[in-house]
Amino acid sequence: MSFSTTLTFPIINKTYDQPTGLFINNEFVAAKSGKTFEVTTPITEEKLTDLQQAGAEDVEVAVQAAHKAFQEWKFTEPSIRGKLLYKFADLVEREKETLAQIESLDNGKSLVCSRYDLNLVVEYIRSCAGYTDKIDGRTINSDSHHLNYTKREPLGVCGAITPWNFPLLMFTWKIGPALATGNTVVLKPASATPLSNLYVCKLIKEAGFPPGVVNVIPGSGRGCGNAILQHPLIKKVAFTGSTEVGRTVMTECAKTIKKVTLELGGKSPNIVFQDCDVEQTIQHLITGIFFNNGEVCCAGSRIYIQATDEKWYSEFLQKFKVAVEKLKIGNPFEEGVFQGAQSTPDQFQTVLDYIKAGKESKLKLLMGGNRIGDKGYFVEPTIFYDVPQDNKLTQEEIFGPVAVVLPFKSVDELIEKANDSEFGLGSGVHTEDINTAIYVSDRLAAGTVWVNCYNDFHQNVPFGGFKQSGIGREMGAEALDNYTQVKAVRIKIKTPQI
Ligand code: NDP
Repeated sequence: MSFSTTLTFPIINKTYDQPTGLFINNEFVAAKSGKTFEVTTPITEEKLTDLQQAGAEDVEVAVQAAHKAFQEWKFTEPSIRGKLLYKFADLVEREKETLAQIESLDNGKSLVCSRYDLNLVVEYIRSCAGYTDKIDGRTINSDSHHLNYTKREPLGVCGAITPWNFPLLMFTWKIGPALATGNTVVLKPASATPLSNLYVCKLIKEAGFPPGVVNVIPGSGRGCGNAILQHPLIKKVAFTGSTEVGRTVMTECAKTIKKVTLELGGKSPNIVFQDCDVEQTIQHLITGIFFNNGEVCCAGSRIYIQATDEKWYSEFLQKFKVAVEKLKIGNPFEEGVFQGAQSTPDQFQTVLDYIKAGKESKLKLLMGGNRIGDKGYFVEPTIFYDVPQDNKLTQEEIFGPVAVVLPFKSVDELIEKANDSEFGLGSGVHTEDINTAIYVSDRLAAGTVWVNCYNDFHQNVPFGGFKQSGIGREMGAEALDNYTQVKAVRIKIKTPQI
């Protein structure tokens, strides 16, 4: 049986071969139950294909494959692991445009955004490849009768559960550091967006990774996902998604004391001081909230603007509105589109419900506030202004192209309001004064502070959350800590008897 189908990208009318099986032991295979599930595109709401659907019994097969592979992979020379990762990065680069198109078809994001993802994907895999032979321990000076040294060893089979907003990037953030440090992986992509993850498995095989090192098994969260959380041979789970499911991940993993990293929700403040570079800042506000359809965990969704001079404040708001009005929204495959479709019907409805709640509580609407068209999940970029700090739209993660603007008149007031959130993922500060930038950055309770930029990721810079936004870091040297454990070796030295 062939686990592949031909799909067509809209508008450009290009076709490609999409794998449809579970990827276990370097082969595309059927689900044990024979069950399949449907994948649709948010651009038109039409069905794209059926995929094999993994259940607990497939998790068992994948985990056994990964466990077997681990016995050799952990002792594979680090430089060879590096070589395979470099090769994989080259292959992803070769297929970059097709992968970006798959991402847009499946997720709905514009090609501009998908291409951004793909660049980071390639660079991050290369960064991980470079770390493989630099995972060193320490020698420890205790006394002259002992030699003490530490090693950083891999954990074993790592489970990964990823979301639908950055399907391939999240795949990379999980498998990159896991493989670099000698672990093997069983990954469950989000049911809404599994296509790029399966496609890239062809490249895992072509790169020459041994069978069982990477296994990708699409299936439901409650079925396949839960079985990953419960499997005793899985030693660590890396999860990105909602805070609610993050709590379930911690609870389930506690039963077998798995290590856990969580990258969860956010409600990030993006702060504008009156001395900022206005044109640049407006572009960074746009990137902050409208990049990737606003479906970004660290989206700059709470915009605080200095309003000591009310005239300046209202003029800034008008300029922001004019700039946002120029954004092209629509089919990701159309030339010049910046914002595509929301990724899932549920998320689309959630965003519309928040907008409705904002209107019902009589918030001032600067622009937007409606669905676009009647086919596909398109939403106007929406900005409410002068929103109270305790409003639901200021406090809760919306995860769509909806921003709230709040004025502030002093730094103390600003810091108190910016930190008044259960989350602490991203933040932005826009000012030309280095003192203001550093003073405010030091006081923001967030894992990332972007100064005079936003959503500006780099493969060498760690990313992760304070407070309920998560545990652990992705990218940078810090990500490797989540995938290694320290072994201490203490050797007693006898005095030679000659
Ligand atoms: P979820 O947290 O439900 O989904 C994320 C991943 O977890 C998916 O792979 C999902 O599988 C899986 N999952 C769901 N339930 C379980 C479970 N019980 N055990 C194991 N795995 C599970 O996100 P949603 O798609 O429901 O989005 C809801 C909200 O989450 C959004 O509105 C947004 O606020 C936030 N979110 C945050 C993201 C981030 O980057 N931090 C990314 C996505 C969403 P399946 O796809 O099969 O359901």
